[in-house]
Amino acid sequence: MADQPRAQSILDALSSTREWQADLYRDLHQHPELSHQEHRTSKLVTERLRGLGLDVHDGIGGTGVVGILRNGDGPTVLARADMDALPVAEATGLPYASTEQAQDRSGTTVPVMHACGHDVHVTCLLGAVELLSRGTGHWSGTFVALFQPAEEFGDGAARMVDDGLAGVLPPIDVALSQHVLPAPSGIVGTRSGPVLSAADSMRITLYGRGAHGSMPQAAVDAVVLAASVVMRLQTVVAREVAPTDIAVLTIGALHAGTKSNVIADSSTLELNIRTYSDQVRDKVLGAIRRIVEAECQAAGSPRPPEFELYDHFPPTINDDAVTARVTDALTGFFGDRLVQLPLQPASEDFSDIPRALGVPYTYWGFGGIDPERYQRAEAEGRIDQDIPVNHSPTFAPVMQPTLDTGTEALVVAALAWL
Ligand code: ZN
Ligand code: ZN
Repeated sequence: MADQPRAQSILDALSSTREWQADLYRDLHQHPELSHQEHRTSKLVTERLRGLGLDVHDGIGGTGVVGILRNGDGPTVLARADMDALPVAEATGLPYASTEQAQDRSGTTVPVMHACGHDVHVTCLLGAVELLSRGTGHWSGTFVALFQPAEEFGDGAARMVDDGLAGVLPPIDVALSQHVLPAPSGIVGTRSGPVLSAADSMRITLYGRGAHGSMPQAAVDAVVLAASVVMRLQTVVAREVAPTDIAVLTIGALHAGTKSNVIADSSTLELNIRTYSDQVRDKVLGAIRRIVEAECQAAGSPRPPEFELYDHFPPTINDDAVTARVTDALTGFFGDRLVQLPLQPASEDFSDIPRALGVPYTYWGFGGIDPERYQRAEAEGRIDQDIPVNHSPTFAPVMQPTLDTGTEALVVAALAWL
């Protein structure tokens, strides 16, 4: 492709960014920070962007940072990386493994680990910024690097938007983001249309009437009520969602009662709901309400149930034209290392940014697992058992070619506009 010599000229400088990228990655990995606590990471990012002479805005939505690299006339491309880590005790055995602890939002002391690979994302985006700032002779336009807090809470992107993100940005033409995945390192995967699910958590409180365990006639048993609700909710996906649509409804927690001879007067359920379109989401949420309210009525519940939605993630739906343009550019560079990304059951809040700005976006994945290890597991039919996935205590991308691939993908995709 005509564009490849430009990309290659810019990426030749990887030989000089690779070393600091590796050092920075190890440093970030060893010092992970929980959602909305990314102060150290944010400071490192800000210093590096200022060092490159970018127009930098920090403290957006808490710890969010935006760096603007202006290079003459042309389109503006925004690329986003998330910065937060998870309350997971690292068990990778790496020399740069995290031993950090922090207080979570409930005040509990928890271990902290970059178990989702956001340290990779930060390192790759900073690398791409430096390569583009050194190679300004090969492109024109504006590149915006955005570092967001609290992806794992699902509200970091929205907080940046609410804190005036649009006011510091030039008009954006396209937004890009990427995630490291449990696939062979060196591989990049794109996908048009829905790519990540919407996720909602819902807490439901059911009310009964407590009584002595020997006197059920005096009670409305909140345990039996909860059991009916749990079983009946299984029919939502099985009987109400079309077989061509996808939805997941998991009841991850059920709490009721204190003692065998006390009939519980309330119970709580915690649900997790995954969908790939607003239409299916509305249908599932509506069915849950209808079923729960009817079961409470059937039980003679003395008070209506309460519903609380929390930790909402929007669906990620890649723009067809943007995805085709990125896929073309990445295919030109990566050849057969570019594959189609399967539909991902996970969720992301990245799309809150382009949605708020009214710009099209695409989100792709790239591998982080040692290719030989992956091949061995595949040959033995043991991928599920042997390949750690994101959020697992043993998820640790191999540094190379993962860092190179994530950096290259950002530069090549941005050049499709710049
Ligand atoms: Zn994650
Ligand atoms: Zn993640």
